[in-house]
Amino acid sequence: MNEKRVAFVTGGSRGIGAAIVQRLAKDGFHVIAVARSLDKLEAICNQINAEGGSAEPMIVDIADSKALAAAVEKTADTHGRLDVLVNNAGITRDGLILRMDDEDFDAVIDTNLKSAFVTIRTAARPMMRAKGGRIINISSVSGVAGNAGQANYAASKAGLIGLSKSVAKELAGKNITCNVVAPGFISTDMTDSLSDQIKDRVKEVIPLRRFGQPQEIASVVAFLAGPDSTYVTGQVIVVDGGMVM
Ligand code: NAP
Repeated sequence: MNEKRVAFVTGGSRGIGAAIVQRLAKDGFHVIAVARSLDKLEAICNQINAEGGSAEPMIVDIADSKALAAAVEKTADTHGRLDVLVNNAGITRDGLILRMDDEDFDAVIDTNLKSAFVTIRTAARPMMRAKGGRIINISSVSGVAGNAGQANYAASKAGLIGLSKSVAKELAGKNITCNVVAPGFISTDMTDSLSDQIKDRVKEVIPLRRFGQPQEIASVVAFLAGPDSTYVTGQVIVVDGGMVM
């Protein structure tokens, strides 16, 4: 059995996921960083390992349920434990509802929501055997408040909240907590594509007047994964600079 606590983090190659991988490794976890492409994952894990931390890349398309379940299972089997699961990877396929086709809806639901159902179902068994575990799902303020042009994305992110609250109730008796972090606008590839004009307009409605940094989400995830949050479950922590009051 790995002596370190083991964390499985999806979407670990860039943005918020990369910051979560780096932070959990810094906090002493062995981190399995999951994404579809190897180069960035490898670079992040190599850097962590060179600095004395412990991380490994794992290539999985989280929209492929069988492959994803197998990856979670392999992690628990190889390391003899799975302490923390972070469902972070997500995609957008924005469009107004009248023009949104089935494929755009299904792709977002499968990647953002069904993947979390699959990982949680698979991780629950080793966590139950270990009599404890932490599940952290990355939602969005779009899932809390809705957003025009993001019916698919908001539905997936709101779905994560219902999923998490249900899992929290179901697994509490096994000492497994399940919480949600709902970021607002964070500086990553996902928001870099917004025009400067839109970014300026958004900042006007953020009381802290700036986009968040990926590390500011990772620190909340670290709290939920760490020793100071043992009595916190079924919660949605909004991290958005005060935007959704
Ligand atoms: P990002 O920069 O676009 O990164 C997405 C990550 O997910 C990448 O590592 C990507 O790696 C991975 N990924 C995407 N599809 C995947 C798939 N099918 N299988 C495996 N990995 C996949 O996104 P981000 O901004 O960091 O966002 C991270 C999470 O926070 C998402 O769930 C997002 O919805 C949520 N969020 C972000 C913001 C924001 O402002 N940035 C706000 C609210 C919520 P590969 O492409 O290599 O697979």
